[in-house]
Amino acid sequence: MKKTIFVTGGAGFIGSALVRFLINETDNQVINIDKLTYAGNLESLESIAQNERYSFEQADIVDKDAMRSLFAKYQPDYVMHLAAESHVDRSIDGPGEFIQTNVVGTFSLLEAAREYYKEQPQEKQQTFRFHHISTDEVYGDLGDTGLFTEETSYEPSSPYSASKAASDHLVRAWYRTYGLPVVVTNCSNNYGPYHFPEKLIPLMILNALEGKPLPVYGDGKQIRDWLFVEDHARALYKVVTEGEIGETYNIGGFNEKQNIEVVHTICALLEELAPDNALAKSSGGDGFESLVTYVADRPGHDVRYAIDATKIERELGWRPVETFETGIRKTIEWYLENSVWCQHVQDGSYMRERLGSKN
Ligand code: NAD
Repeated sequence: MKKTIFVTGGAGFIGSALVRFLINETDNQVINIDKLTYAGNLESLESIAQNERYSFEQADIVDKDAMRSLFAKYQPDYVMHLAAESHVDRSIDGPGEFIQTNVVGTFSLLEAAREYYKEQPQEKQQTFRFHHISTDEVYGDLGDTGLFTEETSYEPSSPYSASKAASDHLVRAWYRTYGLPVVVTNCSNNYGPYHFPEKLIPLMILNALEGKPLPVYGDGKQIRDWLFVEDHARALYKVVTEGEIGETYNIGGFNEKQNIEVVHTICALLEELAPDNALAKSSGGDGFESLVTYVADRPGHDVRYAIDATKIERELGWRPVETFETGIRKTIEWYLENSVWCQHVQDGSYMRERLGSKN
């Protein structure tokens, strides 16, 4: 049956992919609740903004009264909570906003949801879900081998991951203590279209196209698992509709790569996909590679994250469709075709400067 779904942070990278998925691939009603920080961009939703099943509410999740009135106004069936401060380097420069939005904001939203849930008739209570979207960074650093599972204990390293860990604990406590029906997902690094260019992959693509240095932290051997954002959106919908209450599901791409490998792949694909670029033409093959610049590592940088995503496959039948090779190609093609979005997103305060290294 058709549901009314709150998506917090729907103007962000993953949130906008989820909203586009929900409007294009389901018949649900979507309410996007977003404060529109530097990371929120309504241009990412232009393709669905006129749809009658879509509404936008500019609001801060920290503001409990605002959240209460949105629950009263729309009477949602599901809350999919993605709003967050999400960039590790920013959390090193200024952790305060991370505590406010990620911890206090999640608390406000949980309280508004709990008050609303209590007042609902039994049939509505049975189907209501609060889905908290989190990160594999809560598990901390992994050695050379092994994988994070849903049972791995929490050991966050950065202010960002500590704030996300705190919010995960709050969500589970609201289930255990108050019986709020929650599901939690922890996912690996997402990439894909509409990604704000402070994160590794879009930063490298855009810098390379402009002939700017490609800053690689430390020796570039940090390992991350890469998840294509549209695969993630499908996984999130699976979990909110079919996941078991109180359970956690790890979502990963089955694509472990060293950061430097990612950069090499981007350079090679740009040679092929942007042959008219001056660097691609001038160099006879290693033009983009010549931009790679090693810079001081991030303080507290975790060496390896890798996720065991077999539970969601086994229990809910989800697997990513994209491999890293197909996903990164689609991503680069998208950035080449969407220079207007890229220009607009960079008109704000962020100009691809280095963050998180000034202390
Ligand atoms: P993002 O930074 O691109 O978007 C965050 C969105 O939240 C923005 O639209 C912003 O305006 C909004 N927002 C921020 N503070 C708010 C507030 N106080 N009230 C309302 N809205 C607010 O983030 P993303 O990469 O799309 O990540 C979404 C979620 O997924 C986050 O919770 C993040 O922790 C989690 N996550 C992301 C990744 C990743 O690779 N990007 C990996 C694992 C988990």
